[in-house]
Amino acid sequence: MHSQLQGLPDIVYAMLPELESWDLPEETLADCARCAMRPRAGEAERPWHFNERTKCCTHHPQLANYLVGRALRRNDAGSERIRERMKNPEGRTRLGLQPPTSYQTRYEATRASGFGRDDALICPFRSQAPLSCSIWQDRNSTCRTWFCKSSKGLPQKLSWTAVRDVLARVELDLANHCAAKVSPPSEADTSAVWQAWFVRCATVVDDISPVAAPILRSDRLNMLIDRAADQRRAVNATALPDVVVPSVGSVFPDGEQIRLTGYSPYDGTTLSPHIFSFLSHLDGTMTWQDAAQCCFAATGFSVDRTLATHLFTLRIIRAPQLNDDPYSPEAASPLELFSDW
Ligand code: SF4
Ligand code: SF4
Repeated sequence: MHSQLQGLPDIVYAMLPELESWDLPEETLADCARCAMRPRAGEAERPWHFNERTKCCTHHPQLANYLVGRALRRNDAGSERIRERMKNPEGRTRLGLQPPTSYQTRYEATRASGFGRDDALICPFRSQAPLSCSIWQDRNSTCRTWFCKSSKGLPQKLSWTAVRDVLARVELDLANHCAAKVSPPSEADTSAVWQAWFVRCATVVDDISPVAAPILRSDRLNMLIDRAADQRRAVNATALPDVVVPSVGSVFPDGEQIRLTGYSPYDGTTLSPHIFSFLSHLDGTMTWQDAAQCCFAATGFSVDRTLATHLFTLRIIRAPQLNDDPYSPEAASPLELFSDW
């Protein structure tokens, strides 16, 4: 079992027996102990670095009612954080805790520059202790599956996103199950009443018999599980097309080199500026091999298949037509799971 999937309620494993055999990778590039988005020793702060206080926890997770209850009944630092968060009733619903509107507005308006940097967006459940999440055992699907970097770039990122969608669907289904089993308090009820109700939701989930697992497994969940399996297969079927075009997301100077990103502003690579000679020849008709030869003749900089594949998985180069790109986020059709909240 992958470390990120440990500690889920027993009924989740009964609903998803596949989890045991899913060969999900350890994302060693996202080294949270040292934080891969912080400067290395002796390195100056750069525009793409995250804030030491926030790291990637500039996000208010949607925490399903039974997860809120599980965190509350631990009577630890996480419980305190939940109680503190619930002093503001905004975002408290029958399904759990959502971000307050003011938080969500700021998050969406400033995401490009504020994610990983804006102190005002620090997760209410984050503490400043090392490794820092006060509700780690009860964190949600997004927090379990988000990495700033993937060892196989976009294909692997999409695979994690598909796993997130499976777990998020289970969270939503179980949260609805709890709200149907035990009537939620009213808006006017106190925080203490709501806390007691969230703890009851945790008990409801504990009490679901594994026999009920197949009934809880909806067609939509089955579809998401199939999609996650397809995405995992796609990771190992990465095939670099002969003809590619540039798809650079950002460029920053990094000493005498440059840092390029493609699919994500957080997952980049640092190379010689001569890479621009290679990229400039990718006009949608020339093969990458010919572009590499032109680049080498002009600059002496070599682009071999390993580097070209690396650029392709980071989506710094891509297939000319988006529809031909099996790893494009557009082709993955992300689902609007959370609109159900
Ligand atoms: S996932 Fe977050 S904490 Fe971990 S290395 Fe990346 S930015 Fe840092
Ligand atoms: S719940 Fe934990 S892992 Fe998720 S954003 Fe908050 S502090 Fe970070």
